[in-house]
Amino acid sequence: MALKFDTRFDPAYGKGVTVAPDVLRITAKNPSPFTFHGTNSYIVGCETLAVIDPGPDDEAHLRTLLEAIGTRPVSHIFVSHTHRDHSPLAARLKQHTGAAVLAEGRHRPARPLRTGEVNPLDASADTDFVPDIALPDDMVIDGDGWAIRTVLTPGHTANHAAFALEGTGILFSADHVMAWATTIVAPPDGAMADYMTSLDRLIERDDRLLLPGHGGPVTEPRSFMRGLKTHRKMRERAILERINNGDRTIKDMVEAIYRDTDPRLHDAAGLSVLAHLDDLVARGLVHSDGAPAIGGIYSPAT
Ligand SMILES: [Zn+2]
Repeated sequence: MALKFDTRFDPAYGKGVTVAPDVLRITAKNPSPFTFHGTNSYIVGCETLAVIDPGPDDEAHLRTLLEAIGTRPVSHIFVSHTHRDHSPLAARLKQHTGAAVLAEGRHRPARPLRTGEVNPLDASADTDFVPDIALPDDMVIDGDGWAIRTVLTPGHTANHAAFALEGTGILFSADHVMAWATTIVAPPDGAMADYMTSLDRLIERDDRLLLPGHGGPVTEPRSFMRGLKTHRKMRERAILERINNGDRTIKDMVEAIYRDTDPRLHDAAGLSVLAHLDDLVARGLVHSDGAPAIGGIYSPAT
């Protein structure tokens, strides 16, 4: 089945949109080629609330969140991962509400930096973030009329978590699965093998509705995620084909494989190809001169 992205989305900046019973979505005004219209924060509950992904450190967004919260207490702030468009506002929202901040852990790369490698993702990482409570996989936090289960989904980042709203079939999928585009999986922060394992895990869960960190809901999660999986497998095959046909550098592969993609995204595409190559070299399907790196030379495995 062909993968179909859904790019219809009204961010409705400055106000909350009810997306499910007792679930309000508030989109921060930080649009970009990577964040689509901006980061979605979610407010869960009716009386004592939870906030999922407070968003970027943005004054207007904080004001909108506090207006939507009103006089109601907030007991928990859940953070899906430590990118600057998701976690930084947690600290100020905590100051205002006194809520505990929960996340898998601090920012860390999925693999160590290799000799001579600079981390191109440093600017996007919120390295200051420290959760009050570190969430292990499958932990259920009971709130006031809601319960949220941690579903660890590494891949986009090593500490990425999705959150299931127990008893509703709703999963807050953050940046792991989004309706509008594929997820960026870029080493060293992200890892393709982890991403694929996490995708399989969500396919098995069979949730009814995914509410992502950017853009609108995924209304048929299982078939959509199967499509995502096929898409990655096709990309992997395309990379193998380019190498078998003589491409040796990531730059050449990106120019061929992503010729229809916005050139502003070509650096990110290069990292995505590197993510596949990390995985392909580890599986013995591609040879690289030394550990896979963005400037590496790749050739068919013999
Ligand atoms: Zn992210």
